[in-house]
Amino acid sequence: MNKVFGIKPAATSWLAIGLLSLTAIGCGDSGKETAAPETASAETSADSRADHIRKTTATINGTRIQAAASSEPGNWLAHGRTYDEQRYSPLKQINTETASDLGLAWYWDTGTTRGLESTPIVVDGVMYNSGSWSMVWAHDAVTGELLWEYDPQVPREWGVYACCDVVNRGVALWQGKVYVGTIDGRLVALDAATGDVVWDVKTTPEGKPYTITGAPRVVKGKVIIGNGGAEYGVRGYITAYDADTGDEEWRFYTVPGDPTKPFENPAMEHAASTWRGGEWWKVGGGGTVWDSMAFDPELDLLYVGTGNGSPWNRYIRSPGGGDNLYVSSILAIDPDNGALVWHYQTTPGDSWDYTATQHMILAELTIDGEPRDVLMQAPKNGFFYVIDRKTGEFISAENYVPVTWATHIDKETGRPVENPEAQYANETKLVFPAPYGGHNWHPMAYNQDTGLVYIPALDIPFAYGQDNAFKYNERTWNTGVDVTQTSPPKDPDTLAAALGMVKGHLSAWDPVNQKEVWRVQHEMSWNGGVLTTAGNLVFQGRADGHFAAYAADTGEMVWEAPVHVGIIAAPVSFEVDGTQYVSVVAGWGGAYALASGVPRHKSNVLTEGRILTFKVGGDVELPEPQVTYLDIPTPPASDASEAVIAQGDTLYHTQCSVCHGPGVIASGGSLPDLRYSSAAVHDSWNAIVRDGAYTGKGMAGFAEVLTVEESNAIQAYVISATNLAIEMCKGDYRENYPETVGNACVRASVEP
Ligand code: CA
Repeated sequence: MNKVFGIKPAATSWLAIGLLSLTAIGCGDSGKETAAPETASAETSADSRADHIRKTTATINGTRIQAAASSEPGNWLAHGRTYDEQRYSPLKQINTETASDLGLAWYWDTGTTRGLESTPIVVDGVMYNSGSWSMVWAHDAVTGELLWEYDPQVPREWGVYACCDVVNRGVALWQGKVYVGTIDGRLVALDAATGDVVWDVKTTPEGKPYTITGAPRVVKGKVIIGNGGAEYGVRGYITAYDADTGDEEWRFYTVPGDPTKPFENPAMEHAASTWRGGEWWKVGGGGTVWDSMAFDPELDLLYVGTGNGSPWNRYIRSPGGGDNLYVSSILAIDPDNGALVWHYQTTPGDSWDYTATQHMILAELTIDGEPRDVLMQAPKNGFFYVIDRKTGEFISAENYVPVTWATHIDKETGRPVENPEAQYANETKLVFPAPYGGHNWHPMAYNQDTGLVYIPALDIPFAYGQDNAFKYNERTWNTGVDVTQTSPPKDPDTLAAALGMVKGHLSAWDPVNQKEVWRVQHEMSWNGGVLTTAGNLVFQGRADGHFAAYAADTGEMVWEAPVHVGIIAAPVSFEVDGTQYVSVVAGWGGAYALASGVPRHKSNVLTEGRILTFKVGGDVELPEPQVTYLDIPTPPASDASEAVIAQGDTLYHTQCSVCHGPGVIASGGSLPDLRYSSAAVHDSWNAIVRDGAYTGKGMAGFAEVLTVEESNAIQAYVISATNLAIEMCKGDYRENYPETVGNACVRASVEP
C-alpha cells in the first residue's frame, strides 16, 4: 500500500491507462461523423464576402500582429492573440457588471465527434477554426453562417499514430492565406477568402509515425510548424516554410541523431554529449515540438517548447545518464536561420513524459525592483517557471500543483533537485504529476491589470514502473513503462477513492511572488484553456459541459451557461460593429478524455462538437439534449478460462485502451464503448481487430501485432467486462455508483 494515499499504485495506474496502454491502436472513429450542415448564402453576398476577406486579410503581417495589442483590440489575429501569447483581450464591454447578461449569439454544430482544441482566429468579422481530422471552417463571426470549409482528407488509418486524439489547435493567418498542419504531417496554405488550396507540403518523412496537432505560427514571412509522435518513436524538429510558396527555409532538430554520422550543427554535437549509452536514435529520441511557440520581435527570438524523450523511461533511453538535450526544454531560436541561441531544460533527463511543450507567455515583470523581460511557462512537471527571455537565465520556479518527482528547483543552478522516491527503475512509484501533467496544452492567460497568470491545472497521480520487456515497435507506444497493472479496481470503494484523487482547478498565479492568489476547484479534471480580458474577467469552459466567467482579481464566478458538451479549447474575444463577443469551441476529447477511463460528467452529454459565440443580451437558445438509458446488449456466451481472460486483460490494456478506455470504459464518448458491441461486431471480431474491416472508420487492423488467439483473448476479456457492467447496472447501482461504471447505465444515448 502506498503510505501517503493508502491506495496501491495499481489502483491508480489505470487513470493513465490511455497513456500507458500503449500500442498500436491509434484511435479510430465511431463512424458517426457526418457532413457539415449546409448553409445557404446568395452568390452575390458570397462574392462580396470573399472581397471583404481579401481586403481585410491581405495586410496581415508581423507589423500588424505586433501592434495588435493596442491597435486592433477587436481582432484576434494570431494563436495567442499577439506574438507574446498573453491571450489578453483589451475589450471591456463584457465585464464583471455586464457578464451576468451574457447570452448566446449563435452556435454551429460541427457534425464531428472527436476532440476540438482550436483557438479561433477572428479578423474583421470572419472566424477561422480547425477541427477533428485537421478540417478548417470559416464562419461569419456575427451570424455563425458557414462561409467555407476545407477537409484535407487525412487517411483515417493515420489515426493509429495520433497518441492524443485527431485534434488540431488552430490555424494561422498571414497575407490572405490560412495555414493548417494536418494529422498526416502536411502543412497546407488556403486562400482565406475561399478555402481553396494554395500549396500543400509534406513536412514529415513518408511512412514515419509523425502527426501534427499544433497551430502554425507565422514569423517574418515564414510559417513555423513542428510535429508530434514521440510516443511512437520519432526525432523532433521544427521547420520554417516560405509563407508565399511553401518552400522550406530551414529545419532545426531538437535531439541528436546517430552520433556516428556528422552532426547537423554545433548544437547537435553538444546535445549528443548529454546522451549516454543506449541507442536512442533508433527510437528517434523524441523532443517533439507539438504545440507551444512565442516570438519576441525586438530580441528577434523565436521560442519553442520541446516534448518528452522516446522512450519515456531514461533508464532505457540513456542508461548511462545525462540530461538528454534538448528534450523537455525551452529553446530560443534565430528565426532567420533556425540556429539555437539559448536553451533552458525544465526536466533534465526526463523520465515521466514531462514535456515543456506547454504554453509560453512573454511579459515584462518587475522583479526585485527591476523590469525584466521574461518568459513564463507551467510545463507538465508541475513547476511554474520565470525565465529571462533574452539570455535563458533562470529567475524563479515554484510548484503550482502537488509535485513529488522533485523537491524544488535549485535557485543557483536552475536545476530540479530530484526526489529518489520518484525513480522507478527498481520499484513502481506513485508520482505527482501524471504524464497528463500539472498542466497540459490547454492555454493559460496573463492579465496585465491583475498581474496574474491563469492556469488550467490538473491534479492527477500516476504509477510508474519499469517495463523490463521493452522492445521498440514503431506501431506501438514506446514508453518503457510497465503497463500490465492498468485495469481499474473493481472494488467500488477503492475505485471511488482513486477517482477522488483526480481533480482539476483554475489557478490564479502571481508570477513575481510565485504563489497562488486564488483558485476555483472544479469537479472534474481536463477543463478548458483560458481567456482573460480588460473587463476583469477570466473565461474558461469546463469538462462538466459549462462555460463560465470569473472575476480576474478574486475568482468569483460571475456567469456560467450549460453547453451540454465538455470544453477543452480556449475562448477568444473580438468586436464587430461596436459589440463585443466571446467565442469558444466545445468538443470533449484529447488524451485524457479518450484514455483515462474517468467518466464524462452528467452535464457533458453530447458527443458532437459545436462552436459557440456569446454577447451581452444574446438570446439564442440551445436545444436541450434528451438523455435516454440504453441497456447493454447481452454479449455472446464465452467459455474462456480465467487465464485467457487475464491474458486478454493485459493485451487489451497494451493494445486497445488508449482509445477505447481502461476497463473497457470509453469515457470520452467519441469512440465506441466496446461493452455496447452488437452481435454483428462480436461475429466479425477478428475481421475488425485483425483484418482492418473498419479501417475507413480509423480502426486499423492489428494482424501484425495480434495473433488470432490473442485477438480472441481480448474478445473474451471484453465479454467479461461487459457482463460485469451489466451486473453493476442492475438494481440501484445506476443511482449510487454511476461514476464507477463509466458511461454504461448512465448515459448511453443522446437524442437531440
Ligand atoms: Ca508525450
